[in-house]
Amino acid sequence: MDAPQFDVLIRGGGPVGCTLALALRGSGLRVALAWRRADRAAPGGFRPIALSYASRLILERLGAWRGLSPSPIERIEVSQAGRFGRTLLAAADAGVPALGYVVEYAALVAALESRLAESGAELVRSDAPVSASCVAHAEGSSSDASEKRYTQDAVVALVRGERPAGRRAFERFTPEGPLALLPLAERYAVIWSAHPDRARALGSAPEAEFLAALAAAAGGAIGRPAALDARSVQPLVLRVRPARVANRAVYLGNAAQTLHPVAGQGLNLGLRDAWELARTWHNAPDPGDAQVLERYAARRRLDARATVRVTDALAGGFLGAGRFAGAARGLAMTVLDVTPPARRFFARRMIFGPFAIP
Ligand SMILES: Cc1cc2nc3c(=O)[nH]c(=O)nc-3n(C[C@H](O)[C@H](O)[C@H](O)COP(=O)(O)OP(=O)(O)OC[C@H]3O[C@@H](n4cnc5c(N)ncnc54)[C@H](O)[C@@H]3O)c2cc1C
Repeated sequence: MDAPQFDVLIRGGGPVGCTLALALRGSGLRVALAWRRADRAAPGGFRPIALSYASRLILERLGAWRGLSPSPIERIEVSQAGRFGRTLLAAADAGVPALGYVVEYAALVAALESRLAESGAELVRSDAPVSASCVAHAEGSSSDASEKRYTQDAVVALVRGERPAGRRAFERFTPEGPLALLPLAERYAVIWSAHPDRARALGSAPEAEFLAALAAAAGGAIGRPAALDARSVQPLVLRVRPARVANRAVYLGNAAQTLHPVAGQGLNLGLRDAWELARTWHNAPDPGDAQVLERYAARRRLDARATVRVTDALAGGFLGAGRFAGAARGLAMTVLDVTPPARRFFARRMIFGPFAIP
C-alpha cells in the first residue's frame, strides 16, 4: 500500500478547521486543508460571533487577530423581563481587558484565510482524493451525533439603536426565551430565541413592528431601535457526538458539539478544541495513533461536557419557566451581583473554560 500523502487532512475550512491548520504550522506534520470556496458566509447569512478573551489570545498567537476590527464588550448586563434580579459583569471582575469581542463570522473566516494564504498552507478541494494518516473533521456537523431540537428558533438581526452602541452587551431572559444584544460596529447584533411560531412571525414582521417588539423585549436597554440592517430566522439544536475520536479520525468544533448560541460559547469551545489538538500533535510521530487521539479526547472531556451543560441550562432560561423559577433566577442573579468572587469565577469560567477554576 502507498504511504499516505499527508499526516493530517483537515476537512472543513470554517473557523475551527482554519485555526487548526494555522496552529499546526511548525508541528513537523504534513497538513492539508480540504475546503469549499463558497463557504465563507455562515449558514443562514449574517452571524455575530462574540469571541472570548481566551479566543483572542489564540488568534493573536496565530497572527489572525490583526486582520479583524472587533467591537469589545467591557460589561454585560444580565436581567430578566418583568422580574427582579440583575447582574452586571465587568471585564475588571475577571481581570481581563474585555469580556469578549464581537466580529462577523464572514470577517473572521476571511482573516483566517488570508493568514493561511500568507503561510503557504496546502489547500485541496473537498472532493479531491487525498490520503492521510488521520482525518480531522471540522465540517460543522456530524451525521452520527445525538440531536436535541430546541423548541426555539433564533431571530438573528443587526439593528441601529437610538444611539451608537458602546461597549456594553445585554443578556435578557424573557418569557419567550433569551435575548442577546451585542455591540457590533456601533450597531447591535441581536440573537433572540423564541418559540418557532413566534420567531417566524418576528422574522417576517414589517420592520417597524419588529423594532417595536424588540424595544419592548429589551426593556429599554438600547432605547428605541432606529433601523434594521439584517434579519434571518435560524433553527436551534444541541448536537453532540458520543465520541470525539474514531479510527484514525478526530472531530472538533461543531462537528463534535453544536450548541445553542445563548452564551456565545460554541466557537470559543471549538477554538480551544483546535488549540489543544495542535498541542497534542506537536512532534507526534503518528497523529492517527489511537493512544495519541485518546489523550486528546481525555484533555477535552471536562471542558466540552461542562460547556454543553451550562449552555443547555441557559437555553432553558436557567431554572425554567414559571413564577417560582423566575424568583429563583432573580435570586441567583442578585447573589451573583453582590458577590465579587462568584462574579469573577463565573466570568473567568465563561472566558477560559474549566482551567480558569481558581
Ligand atoms: C446565530 C448564531 C450565533 C452564534 N454566536 C456565537 C458566538 O457569539 N460565539 C461563539 O463562540 N459561537 C457562536 N455561535 C456558534 C459558532 O458559529 C459555531 O460554533 C462555529 O461556527 C463552529 O465553527 P466550525 O468551524 O466548527 O463549523 P462551521 O462554522 O459550521 O464551519 C464548517 C465548514 O466546513 C465546511 N464543510 C462542510 N462539509 C465539508 C466537506 N465535506 N468538505 C469540506 N468542507 C466542508 C462548511 O461549509 C463550513 O465552511 C453562533 C451560532 C449561531 C447559529
